[in-house]
Amino acid sequence: MMIKLHEEKMATKRAIWVVFSRSKILVREQDKTVPIGLISDFPFLAAYSDSIHQLPPLNETAHKEMPVFVVDLGSQRFDEPGWERASLRQLLYSEPGAAFSIFGRAWQYVHFIRTHQFCGQCGAKTELVSWEMAVHCHQCQHRSYPRVSPCIIVSIHNRKQILLARGVRHKEANMYSTLAGFVESGEDLEQAVHREVFEEVGVKVKNLQYFGSQPWPFPHSLMIGFIAEYDSGDIKCQENEIDDAQWFDAECLPNIPPRLSIAGKLIEKTLSLIADK
Ligand SMILES: [Zn+2]
Repeated sequence: MMIKLHEEKMATKRAIWVVFSRSKILVREQDKTVPIGLISDFPFLAAYSDSIHQLPPLNETAHKEMPVFVVDLGSQRFDEPGWERASLRQLLYSEPGAAFSIFGRAWQYVHFIRTHQFCGQCGAKTELVSWEMAVHCHQCQHRSYPRVSPCIIVSIHNRKQILLARGVRHKEANMYSTLAGFVESGEDLEQAVHREVFEEVGVKVKNLQYFGSQPWPFPHSLMIGFIAEYDSGDIKCQENEIDDAQWFDAECLPNIPPRLSIAGKLIEKTLSLIADK
């Protein structure tokens, strides 16, 4: 399953090393950055040369010039002086530029490999394809690719107010955000928006506008953002999902997600729209 990279190739290339240990990422204690350099700069990596994969490069990314090597230690502990582990979420928020295409992608790759060791069709052991992100079954020729799950995320406004909801899972953090949910099989994105909004807060929306998208590697979503206008109905929170939802004025907002996430960007854009009304 694991491809052993040609040692010469690893030795001569400066690379970004994304090392997963129990689903966290190895960072320098000093400045919380991941290792960048030759493999010989990090002697502790030599012990794991069987678990090193090169991340297949994307065409248009910041790390075009520098290869990204992914090392999956699985549940192994890692205790090396000078190094500690950071969560993927921490890294996404601290280095938003390259974070999604490097750390997010590396995590999706590792998660994919961990969960596709056997063929879903015939049960035989799969092998990693070297030139694309895929595993192949040589028994029945079935090939699997990393799963991407589309998820809509929507910000709703009504005159000078924005609708924000606190999910049951965010109750403790007291964080209010936009509504989001997975697209179901056979549904288009707009239908998913109307269904999710009605299910979660009981209101109808209109005039959907596409906003933008963001990969969200927890573990493999693609968030597709919309801004919608309120149409009708009173707020009625969905049991077990939404703890509270309210219309807020721009001047007295609750605790909201950071601007780096698509939710934060959607809220910012919606506030600028309602400010002009
Ligand atoms: Zn098979």
